Amino acid sequence: MIEAVFKPVLSGYPLSELQELLHPLPRFRVKQIFSWISRGVRSFAEMTDLSQSLRADLGERFSLYASEVAARLKDPDGTEKLQISLRDGCLIEAVLLTDGEERRTACLSTQAGCPQGCVFCKTGALPFRRNLDSAEIVEQFLHLRGAAADGDADANTISNIVIMGMGEPMLNLAELRRAVSVFTASEGFGLSGRRITVSTSGIAAGIRDLADNGPRVRLALSLTTADTALREHLMPVTKSNPLPEVKAALQHYQQCEGRRITLEMVLLGGLNTRREDVDALQAFIRGLDAVINLIPWNPVEGMSFAGRPLREPEPGELAAFMAELEQRGIAFTRRYRKGRTIGGACGQLGGMREPYSLTTRDRVSTSTPSPVTSTSFSRRQPPWTGS
Ligand code: SAH
Ligand code: SF4
Repeated sequence: MIEAVFKPVLSGYPLSELQELLHPLPRFRVKQIFSWISRGVRSFAEMTDLSQSLRADLGERFSLYASEVAARLKDPDGTEKLQISLRDGCLIEAVLLTDGEERRTACLSTQAGCPQGCVFCKTGALPFRRNLDSAEIVEQFLHLRGAAADGDADANTISNIVIMGMGEPMLNLAELRRAVSVFTASEGFGLSGRRITVSTSGIAAGIRDLADNGPRVRLALSLTTADTALREHLMPVTKSNPLPEVKAALQHYQQCEGRRITLEMVLLGGLNTRREDVDALQAFIRGLDAVINLIPWNPVEGMSFAGRPLREPEPGELAAFMAELEQRGIAFTRRYRKGRTIGGACGQLGGMREPYSLTTRDRVSTSTPSPVTSTSFSRRQPPWTGS
């Protein structure tokens, strides 16, 4: 068991890196191995077009997986959530979303916890543990595909990936890049970058890095509100990444990629559904090719802001907000609510309780910034009293 921890895990290796790792194995052999991994084999023994001795040698030196499914939860609406345990005991979550036409989307995590501390998000309220490596990202997809295919590992059942699970992807761009390289390789999963969406809380340098150095994927910004003062409280990242800088980075991305971006707006009852929020949004989208995606807040027990429990917008409040957008000609879509009963909807991910309670040492990380938790924010003097 301990030995396995130290063996390199092949599932996260992009083809070119695998080539180097397995040198002097011929290229066609490396491609065979890469392709087997993307088909979801669970052991080297299943790689039947390799010689017995090569399979044995690979098994001696490498592992195939760095994680395993700890629990599988299914919502009546078809959404499925997997809790996945990592080698160090961390538990992360990944979600499989299904729409009416049987198109399946994998929602993947990039970090265990999240250091960004958005006040409305369950993941942000957890202690930040660490970045995931490429293998741990790729394997979420493999586990979800296994669940989707219900045993048929060859079934190519997931058409889209959204990097909208736990964590801030721009803080883990290097490993995300390696994972995307695995996802998009024609010898493996063969997914187009157009079918992969990366969502960020708004880290300008990360957006520029993505624009300049790839990978070529779709981009979403979790805007929530364009009112700077309110956003600084709801999403503390705004203080180090002011909205004008984020907007300039988005414009740079659009110059490089030419792709429409999505602006996600989590709607919090009585907080960011004001006329001022529509005014600020209108100003923010000027000069951007963007579509707004409205996400009425998914309840997370115990979350509060400015001394009040957070709540979903009232139906009338939501209708008024949407009517205001329509009147101003601001295009928007509304996100379907999926997976609520299993805590698998946006912002509800956070199955890390068990490993954290087991190791108090992990709460005091030495190498990572101390997280700003929603709790510490809710204790502040209330700057907003609601609308
Ligand atoms: N950290 C990245 C990727 C995670 S995406 C980001 O924030 O963009 C998670 C999405 O769910 C974000 O758009 C976030 O704003 C939204 N979200 C967080 N908590 C939510 C909640 N309780 N209800 C609805 N949406 C939520
Ligand atoms: Fe982190 Fe995104 Fe949640 Fe904010 S919304 S705490 S950035 S996962």
